[in-house]
Amino acid sequence: MAELTDSYGRRLNYARISVTDRCNFRCAYCMPTEGIQCLAHDDIMRYEEILFLARNLHELGVGKIRVTGGEPLVRKGLTDFIRELRNMLPDIKITLTTNASLLKQHIRPLADAGINSLNISLDTLDPQKFGKITRLGELQPVLDSIDAAAVSGIDEIKLNTVLIRGFNDTEVEDIIAYANERKILPRFIEFMPLESDVWSKDSFISWAEAAKSMRGAGDWEPEPTSSDDDGPARYYKNSRSGYTVGVISAVSEKFCRGCNRIRISASGNLRTCLFDPSETPLRDLLIARDPRALQERIINTIKNKPRYGEDVRDGALHMSNIGG
Ligand code: SAM
Ligand code: SF4
Ligand code: SF4
Repeated sequence: MAELTDSYGRRLNYARISVTDRCNFRCAYCMPTEGIQCLAHDDIMRYEEILFLARNLHELGVGKIRVTGGEPLVRKGLTDFIRELRNMLPDIKITLTTNASLLKQHIRPLADAGINSLNISLDTLDPQKFGKITRLGELQPVLDSIDAAAVSGIDEIKLNTVLIRGFNDTEVEDIIAYANERKILPRFIEFMPLESDVWSKDSFISWAEAAKSMRGAGDWEPEPTSSDDDGPARYYKNSRSGYTVGVISAVSEKFCRGCNRIRISASGNLRTCLFDPSETPLRDLLIARDPRALQERIINTIKNKPRYGEDVRDGALHMSNIGG
């Protein structure tokens, strides 16, 4: 099987595909208050095109596909699409990143479709703070979805929390307990400098500092790196509670050396690095269903994947566009 290897010898076997740039939330760190200018319907890849893309990525050695957005579950037909993806590629790992607001009603079809894992984003357990950070969101449906996911039989469920000083740094311990009690793995993600209006040096807090504010006793001992091919996460286990936690230091300790990922935006543009704004359109070849030209373009594009991601704080980057 062909392999996608970049000029630094990194094997790229993980694709994050955004199925929509739309979202029913406006998280302060991800989008401006008024939202982003959404793509026109015709400018979004159709599901058949995404399936064609996935098949070609798989032929190039991609073994894991994350479906993301925007909020993937606001797109109609998502669970049918995931089932078709699974039927077409029975051996790949399929994962979904979601804000979980609409997850409860979709959890059964997702589990039945054989999705391997879910990443659920949740930044606070406080309803008021939740409303504030998501601007449009309500906490309760998210909590109900998390409970439904926890008993759905889906192999791996992770809770992703963006750490923000002065917002949720004092909730770290509660979030760890909340997730562990449901056999869900909590992971704290360092706030990335993408949305210049919101990010500031003051709101960034490293895991090491947030961990110091915990009240509970017990030490956080490093766990051997899991087989998780998300790459950047480090794991710790508490010596007293037995709780585990993952930490993604996307800022204080970049993990570019082991980077194995590429991103495809909802409009079908290939991005080789989160922090590199250059994009290569693939849509014309998806519409033309031209496998050879498509694979050639992907191979040529990844040759330009930068060795390290440079911080960009120009305000032009929104996760919802890129596919977080
Ligand atoms: N809407 C879905 C969700 O929120 O899970 C999927 C897309 S969202 C862009 C994917 C992830 O990116 C979320 O977990 C979100 O917290 C994260 N994210 C967005 N902006 C971020 C930033 N500036 N720093 C760190 N993580 C960010
Ligand atoms: Fe929407 Fe996810 Fe961005 Fe929040 S982080 S605004 S839920 S895309
Ligand atoms: Fe990969 Fe770019 Fe992120 Fe580094 S900054 S880990 S190269 S996507």
